[in-house]
Amino acid sequence: MNAFTFSRARSVADALGHWHDNVRFLAGGTTLIDLMKLNVERPAEIIDINALPLAEVTRTPDGGLSIGALARNSDVAHHPDVVHDYPLLSQALRSGASVQLRNMASTGGNLLQRTRCVYFRDPAMACNKRSPGSGCAAIGGFNRNLAILGTSAHCIATNPSDQNVALTALEATIHLTGSNGERSVPIGDFYLVPGETPERETVLGPGELVTSVTLPPPAAGARSIYLKLRDRASYEFALASAAVVATVRDGTMQRVRIAMGGIATKPWRNLDVEMALQGQPATRERFTEAARILLSDAKPQSENGFKVELAKRCLVHALSLATTAV
Ligand SMILES: Cc1cc2nc3c(=O)[nH]c(=O)nc-3n(C[C@H](O)[C@H](O)[C@H](O)COP(=O)(O)OP(=O)(O)OC[C@H]3O[C@@H](n4cnc5c(N)ncnc54)[C@H](O)[C@@H]3O)c2cc1C
Ligand code: SF4
Repeated sequence: MNAFTFSRARSVADALGHWHDNVRFLAGGTTLIDLMKLNVERPAEIIDINALPLAEVTRTPDGGLSIGALARNSDVAHHPDVVHDYPLLSQALRSGASVQLRNMASTGGNLLQRTRCVYFRDPAMACNKRSPGSGCAAIGGFNRNLAILGTSAHCIATNPSDQNVALTALEATIHLTGSNGERSVPIGDFYLVPGETPERETVLGPGELVTSVTLPPPAAGARSIYLKLRDRASYEFALASAAVVATVRDGTMQRVRIAMGGIATKPWRNLDVEMALQGQPATRERFTEAARILLSDAKPQSENGFKVELAKRCLVHALSLATTAV
């Protein structure tokens, strides 16, 4: 680990005031400290933001929910309003990491966690994301866990988060503050596909701080599910996951929101798939067709072709669970 200076921000203004090119905000530290130990992250300064008043989970005036950037994953997962009104977010958070990690991990840090691509985490290897222009060792290398959607010739890394998949299906909004003021970004516009610049993963500007995430009011009569498929039942990242929010009336799907994880370079939403389901009977045949459309652009690598079928089955099963009347 390189030498760095450390300070504790007492206010949002204090945190923003410290900003220069090589600063990192510290929340739970479960991504940042790991990457510093590996010499992947080498900040000159760390600003601990944990004293900022950003840990609240509160109702919004329109009946939605506001989740502070420093709200811990465990607290959000077990919050009664989340469990009752946004159960797929609770399920997604509880499926991630371990109890100890979830007690530390924050909402904002989870939004910005980095890929688990092994080459990204090894400074001896070529990686365009860590070191732009150096190449991509994963293409043709160990890529079993990596993406089949949203990839480019420069990077095929998966966004590893469970939380972010649920937030995408819930159409969350991310609230930011920086030296140019405050702004709000729909989660669908927050993440970037790698293209030629895999080092840029989000639209977050230099020195911008995530302050909160808001969820719209829960859709009336909707059922939801987060289904995660992985190599073992706990403490493992998704190979494929599906977040589904669906409203079914008289056997017909009225409103469907779908996001997929574990298979793409960002939390993956395909509006064509949702349109193909809305107004249709909630049948296995329709779900299978939706999964076919969603995976039709998949570009498997040398080791992850199995994800195409796995993701299809994951989506079909999640849709079946979310649309089955209780
Ligand atoms: C062993 C292990 C297993 C894991 N398994 C899973 C899993 O199954 N599923 C899953 O989804 N995740 C998993 N994770 C990842 C874990 O969820 C993330 O590490 C965690 O959510 C990051 O949150 P944090 O608060 O610790 O972030 P930090 O490490 O503090 O920060 C992460 C990044 O975000 C930046 N940042 C933090 N807060 C803000 C803010 N408010 N504004 C702007 N920038 C900010 C930091 O500067 C840093 O760059 C696992 C992690 C580990 C170590
Ligand atoms: S897939 Fe992306 S993160 Fe992994 S080695 Fe290639 S460029 Fe780096």
